[in-house]
Amino acid sequence: MVSPARERLLADLSDELQAIDDQGLLRRLTSLEAIDGPRVRIDGRDVVNWCSNDFLGLSLHPALAQAAARAAVEWGIGARASRLLAGTTAWHLRLEESLASWFGAEAALVYPSGYLANLGTLGALLASQDAVFIDRLAHASLFDAARASRATLRVFHHNDTAHLAALLSRASKARRQVVVTEGVFSMEGDCAPLEELLDVAQTHQALVYVDDAHGAFVLGKTGRGTPEAAGVSHERLIYMGTLGKAVGCQGGFVVGPRLLIDFLHNRARTFIYTTALAVPIAAAAVEALRLLKGEPQRRERLRQLTERLHERLAPLQPVSRVRALPSHIVPFVVGEARQALELAQALWERGIWAPAIRPPTVPEGTARLRLNVTALHTEAQIDALAGALRSQVHCKRCS
Ligand SMILES: *Cc1c(COP(=O)(O)O)cnc(C)c1O
Repeated sequence: MVSPARERLLADLSDELQAIDDQGLLRRLTSLEAIDGPRVRIDGRDVVNWCSNDFLGLSLHPALAQAAARAAVEWGIGARASRLLAGTTAWHLRLEESLASWFGAEAALVYPSGYLANLGTLGALLASQDAVFIDRLAHASLFDAARASRATLRVFHHNDTAHLAALLSRASKARRQVVVTEGVFSMEGDCAPLEELLDVAQTHQALVYVDDAHGAFVLGKTGRGTPEAAGVSHERLIYMGTLGKAVGCQGGFVVGPRLLIDFLHNRARTFIYTTALAVPIAAAAVEALRLLKGEPQRRERLRQLTERLHERLAPLQPVSRVRALPSHIVPFVVGEARQALELAQALWERGIWAPAIRPPTVPEGTARLRLNVTALHTEAQIDALAGALRSQVHCKRCS
């Protein structure tokens, strides 16, 4: 028995997919067949991976695997329940204590992912009587969270504190005003001007919420992220990060005053109505933080490699990009989606995997390659990448 409604749905979806493909925007999964540090095997071919978020190279660390394996034997894999029921184990609490201590905060709350951390935290803090001000280039999860909260949504130009000030100074009857930004922007690699954002926000009694998915554990002298790099105390903000990037595990978190965390236990729906983070992951994340404390050289190594890539690419960047704090996220903006795909393909043929990032992930006309440097890359790999980009850009110019 076929269902006509289902047949009709499939026909509609097929048309939509075709339209996406016609614009050069179709996305497909790439499956990794093997991994060896920054090298991965895809379709039987070994390539250097430039799209990993394993910034400090911890995901493959044997100590994390051992910590996870031990916890799996003692506690099982799944957490069996949500955090408020039987899902909180000693490992979850240890992880939250480690995070609070890392960032010098009173308390922390771990969610199963960073996406859920944004949805749950902003959802708990904002309602229809509030206003949220969000950077135009902020991550999709922040926009989803802001929209789902039903607070009045205002979008300010990227890192433009004057525009933010103008939006905030319009008379507001909002109960609460929250400014939302990333620490290091996922697609631009630049940092939010936190000091100025905080000044503007404080003038208007607004809170600042920072999603530091890319900056946490990486930036700052002690790895406390973008606020530390900018000389801003965490106590002035609400701070969120992920365990899926620099920590090499999985999960999202918020750190802050105990009162905030107690409130989130009661009001963050993506914390309350979901199964707790898998226990082996929580144990591995505790181990990752312990390791990182003793190995600040991982951050330093990443910083050196990042600097090298920036130096090698400086003469090639099609758009001049001035940055106060160049980061390990290095965009190479190309323009149209098709051109970005062609460039990615040319690199692929040279054993370099740097996929094209296209709209709607980035604004129309700014399709790019995004190069993520990690502490596991080598100088030779950086030079090979820069060399390949140079030859492609030059051969475009002479043809
Ligand atoms: C990756 C990312 C997230 C989502 O974190 P996950 O743990 O992968 O769900 C949220 N915000 C930003 C800015 C990110 O880059």
